[in-house]
Amino acid sequence: MASIVDKIVLNIPDRLLRYLRKIGSVADQKSVTAYTVGGFVRDLLLSNEDQLKSNELDLDIVIENHAIDVAKKVADDFKASINVHQQFGTAKVITKENFQIDFVTARRETYQTLGALPSVVFSSIREDLYRRDFSINAVAMSILPIDFGNLLDYTDGLRDLETALIRVLHDQSYRDDPTRIFRAIRYEKRYNFQICQTDQGLIQDVIDHSYLDHISGQRIRNEFNRIFSEDLAWKTLQRMEDFVLFSAIVPCWELPQDFSRTWQDAIQAIDWSKKHLPDDHIDQDAVLWMALLNEETTDAVSHRLAFEKRLQEKLDSRNRLMIDQTKLSSSSKPSQVYHLLNSYPLEVLIFSLWHNKHSWQKEKIEDYLLRLRNVQPKVTGDDLIQRGHKPSPEMAKTLWNSFARQLDELRD
Ligand code: ATP
Repeated sequence: MASIVDKIVLNIPDRLLRYLRKIGSVADQKSVTAYTVGGFVRDLLLSNEDQLKSNELDLDIVIENHAIDVAKKVADDFKASINVHQQFGTAKVITKENFQIDFVTARRETYQTLGALPSVVFSSIREDLYRRDFSINAVAMSILPIDFGNLLDYTDGLRDLETALIRVLHDQSYRDDPTRIFRAIRYEKRYNFQICQTDQGLIQDVIDHSYLDHISGQRIRNEFNRIFSEDLAWKTLQRMEDFVLFSAIVPCWELPQDFSRTWQDAIQAIDWSKKHLPDDHIDQDAVLWMALLNEETTDAVSHRLAFEKRLQEKLDSRNRLMIDQTKLSSSSKPSQVYHLLNSYPLEVLIFSLWHNKHSWQKEKIEDYLLRLRNVQPKVTGDDLIQRGHKPSPEMAKTLWNSFARQLDELRD
C-alpha cells in the first residue's frame, strides 16, 4: 500500500515537482531546511485537482533562515524574475510560466494592537506553523532531497482534513485577526467542510464584541474580492449572513432578501458581456457589488470599505439609472435611448439588462449596448470647424441634432 508521502508526491503536477525539487536542492546546498506549506499542501492532501491545475497556482515556501539567498539562486537558475523584501526576509519569484513562488523566512508573529498587522521575529518552522490561521493550512511538507514529501503536522491538520473541519489554532486567533472569519467561511463553502462548534462560538464572540471595527476597509474589501472569485461565492455570502456578518461591518447592511436571484442576475450579466461585448473591459467585481448593495446601503458600505472613486461612481450611477430608465417607453426613439444611457458605465447597464423586470426596457438597453453606442457620427465637430463654424453651444446642438437624425434613421 502506498504511504501518505508517496501518495502526495504522486499528486504533485510534474511542472511543479521540477520547481520543488530544485528549491529543495538549493536549500540543501546552503544547509538550510525548506518546506512548502499552506494552500498547496492542503490541496495536495485533499487531491483537489481543480485547485492544483489552476493557472494562478502559487507556491509558499518556508525556509528556516536565509529565504532570500535561496530565492535568489532559484531565480537565477530558472531565469525567473524576483522581488526581494529585505526587511521582512521574503522574496517573490515569478517564473516564465507565471508561477508565483513566495519565499519566507520562518517566523513568529505577535499582535500588539487590535486589527493591526502583526510584528515579526524570525524563528523555526514549528513556530511558523503555529502562527497560521487554520490547522488545515498549517501542515508543512519537506522539500529537501533527503526527506522530500515528509509532513510536519503539529496541529492535527491531517485529522481535520480527514474529518472536514475548519479549526483555528488557539482561542484568540479570530480576535487577533478577524479577517480569518472570512477565510474560515470561504474554505468551509469551497471544500464543503464545517467550521467546528468551538470556532463558531469564537467567531460569534468576535462579531458580538465589534472586533471587526478595528479592521481597515481595505483589508475587508480584499476578503470580499477573494470571495468573489470563488465558484460558490453566493454560498459563502449566504453563510456570512448566518453569522450576521454584513451588519457587523456596516450596521444597516444585510443580504438582500432576493439575494440568490440578484446574484444570479449579476453572474448572467457578466457571462452575457463576455459573449456579446468581448472587446470591452468590464469590471466584474463592480457588477457583483451591485447584487450586494441597494440605494440605502451603497453609500455607507462604499465609505466603510474605502471603495475607489471609480467603483463608487459606478455604484452610485446605478441609483440614477433606476430613475432614468423609467423615462424610457416602448416607443422611445433610438436618439432618446442614446441620450439617456450614454453617460452610464457599462457595468451598470449590463446589470440592469439582467435585473430589470420590464422587457421593453431591457430591449432598449440591449439595443443601446449592442448597436447604438457603436454608431459613429457622420458629421463631426472637425467637419463643422473646417466649414468655418466656431465651437459654441449652437454648434454642439447642431452636431447632436444631426447625430440624433442619423440614429433614428438606422434600420432595425
Ligand atoms: P487560497 O487557495 O485561498 O489561495 P491559500 O492557503 O493559498 O489559499 P493564502 O491567502 O495565499 O491562502 O495564504 C497562504 C498561507 O498563509 C495560508 O495557507 C495560511 O497558512 C497563511 N495565512 C494567510 N492568511 C492568514 C491569516 N490571516 N492568518 C494566518 N495565516 C494566514
